Amino acid sequence: MKVVGISDVGLVRQKNEDAFWIDENQGLFLVCDGMGGHRGGEVASHMAVQTIIQSMKDNSSSEAQQRLVQAIETANQAILKAGLENEHLFEMGTTVTAVLVDGSRLLVANVGDSGVFLIRSNTIRKITRDHTLAEEMLSHGILKPEEMRGNAYNHILTRALGVDDQVEIDIFNEELLPGDILLIYSDGLTDMLIPDEILEIIQANSSDLEIAADRLVRKALQKGGFDNVTIVLLCFN
Ligand code: CA
Repeated sequence: MKVVGISDVGLVRQKNEDAFWIDENQGLFLVCDGMGGHRGGEVASHMAVQTIIQSMKDNSSSEAQQRLVQAIETANQAILKAGLENEHLFEMGTTVTAVLVDGSRLLVANVGDSGVFLIRSNTIRKITRDHTLAEEMLSHGILKPEEMRGNAYNHILTRALGVDDQVEIDIFNEELLPGDILLIYSDGLTDMLIPDEILEIIQANSSDLEIAADRLVRKALQKGGFDNVTIVLLCFN
């Protein structure tokens, strides 16, 4: 397995509120996209990363999915508590997309609008579902698929860590094949690039993941770079 990660503040924002983590030994990969005033956003995303890593280490004997869910729930509680106890961190929150790889088994846990694409033999498929008002309106037939792109409701989250005592976590299981590429991203990438553009860049640079990652970020910046851009790219052999 080869893996690279990169995070860029973009061209408009003052701060980078995204955080990512790569742990090849545990097969654990994280992307978090924080929100909140003052330093809240970056505190929340980093707190999520640190809490999840620690919890995964502490519960190494439990079953994988149970560990991951528990780690995310622990992060939710930690962020909520810190936000309530510190006025500068009030109402901070974060998305989390967690990928756990064990052999050919892929486990994805997701809250919010970061996510995962699977690139397999010239196709790109989104594994995760966004927890946004736009997605909810789409599922109720209020928005049409062609009205989704650029819609303001894409930026209103219906789920995040640090908001409520309980957090609903989506879980996805997949079987990986040799040559599969996984892209974990924050929405600063997908607001700028459609999946076909992402696929084209990855295919053109599939022999060098670092270059592929760099090209993806550069393309997002070229198209405006309105938000922080974070990607983790993994290739399975
Ligand atoms: Ca973002």
